[in-house]
Amino acid sequence: MSNYKISTKCVQEGYKPGNGEPRVLPLYQSTTFKYDSSEHLGDLFDLKAGGHMYTRISNPTTEYVEEKINALEGGVGAMMTSSGQAAVFISVMNLCKAGDNFLSSISIYGGTINLMTAEFARMGVEVRYFNQNAPIEEIEALIDENTKLVYGETIANPALDVFDIEKFADLAHKHNIPLCIDNTFATPYLCRPFEFGADIVVHSTTKYMDGHASQVGGVIVDSGKFNYANGKFPEFTVPNESYHGVVFAEQFGDAAFIVKARTLLMRDFGMSPAPFNAYLVNTGLETLALRMERHCSNAMKVASYLESRTDKIARVSYPGLASDPRNDLAKKYIRNENGEFIGTSGVVSFEIKGGREAAVRFMDSLKLAALVVHVADSRTSVLHPASTTHRQLSDEQLVRAGISSGLIRFSVGIENADDIIADIEQALQNA
Ligand SMILES: *Cc1c(COP(=O)(O)O)cnc(C)c1O
Repeated sequence: MSNYKISTKCVQEGYKPGNGEPRVLPLYQSTTFKYDSSEHLGDLFDLKAGGHMYTRISNPTTEYVEEKINALEGGVGAMMTSSGQAAVFISVMNLCKAGDNFLSSISIYGGTINLMTAEFARMGVEVRYFNQNAPIEEIEALIDENTKLVYGETIANPALDVFDIEKFADLAHKHNIPLCIDNTFATPYLCRPFEFGADIVVHSTTKYMDGHASQVGGVIVDSGKFNYANGKFPEFTVPNESYHGVVFAEQFGDAAFIVKARTLLMRDFGMSPAPFNAYLVNTGLETLALRMERHCSNAMKVASYLESRTDKIARVSYPGLASDPRNDLAKKYIRNENGEFIGTSGVVSFEIKGGREAAVRFMDSLKLAALVVHVADSRTSVLHPASTTHRQLSDEQLVRAGISSGLIRFSVGIENADDIIADIEQALQNA
C-alpha cells in the first residue's frame, strides 16, 4: 500500500489500469467467471487458489473498490455488502453464535438498535448496551466469558456523540475481544479508527462515501491486528468442514476475520452488493476528501449561525463547536489529512423553540433544504424525528429516547453556505 495522503488515495487507490486498459474502473456486471479446467474451479472451492467464481462471493469491480476503501482505512482487507445493515450484521455474526453476547454503546443508529435488540436476540445473541459516558468499571462489569466484541460509532447518528475509541479499544483488548467501530459519519477522511486501536471498521457507504444518495451499500474493513486464535473464537481455529478442513487463523493469518466473513457469511447469507453499486461508490470516493472539507466548513458556519439565534433556537448540537461538551473528544479523533480540526461532518442537530408545531412550520417553510429520509449526501436535507422516524412515540417517550419534540436533524450539503443559512433564516421567520 502506498504512503499517499488520504485525498490522493481517494483518487488513485483501487483500480490501476495497465498499458492500453480502460482509464476508468470497468463495470463487470457478470454473475460468474469462466475457467478452462474443472481442477482449477475445484481449487477455488477449496480456497486453494484465488480468483472470482460467483458474484455473490466476489466480483472484480467490487474488489477494486474494496481495495480502495481498505487503503483509506489502513486495513488488511475489506468486503463490500448490500447495505450498512448487512455490514453490521456480518461483522457481529462473524464472531457471535447463539449463547454469546456483545457490548454496544446505546448512542448508535436507530436501524442498528433494531437489528441488535430484536433480530440478534431471535438468534440467541444478546446485546448489552452501555452509556459511553458511564464510569468504565460499570461498563466493564457487563463483560463475561461469552462476550465477543465491543461496538460503537465514531460520530453517532443522530445523537452526534463522539466515541472514545482508545478507551474502549483498551477495555476490549484487556478481555481479549475486538473493538468494532461504525465510521460512517466521520469517513476515513476525518478519522481512521485503526490508528486508535479499533480492530474492525464498518460503514454505510450509502452516506458520505457514495455522497450522491444513488445507492444503498456497506463495507467491512479488517485491521489485521487482532489475534482470533486466542482461544475465545473457536470458529477461527477449528477445521471448517464446508472447506475441507480449512483452519482460518492458520491459512489466512492476519486476514482471517475478513476471509471468514466472505467465504462463510457472505457465501451463506448472500448480502452482496450489485457491481454497479460498487462502481457508484468508487465514483463517489474520488471526491470524498473535497466533499468532506466542504461539508465540514459549511456545517461549522451553519452551527455557529444557529448558535447565535438564541431567540428562536433552544440548543445546537454539533461537536465541531467549541461550546459543545464533546468538542475535546472530537478534537482528539476527528481531524483531516493535514491534522487540522475542520468540523465533525455535515450533520448538525438543533432544537427549535415552540416544540413540535414550530418544528413542523420551520420544516415546511424550507425551500433549499429538502425533507428526505436520508443524511450525509451532497444536497442539504432535513428530518424531524418527532413527526417522521419516531412519530409513534409520545412527547414523554421521545424525551426518554433523547429526542425532544422540537429536535431537527440537519444534514448540511456542499452548496454555498450563505444560501443554506439564508434558507434557514427565512424558515425561522415563519416558524
Ligand atoms: C445509515 C446507517 C447505517 C445503516 O446503513 P444502510 O446503508 O442504510 O443499511 C448504519 N450505521 C450508520 C451510522 C448509519 O448512518
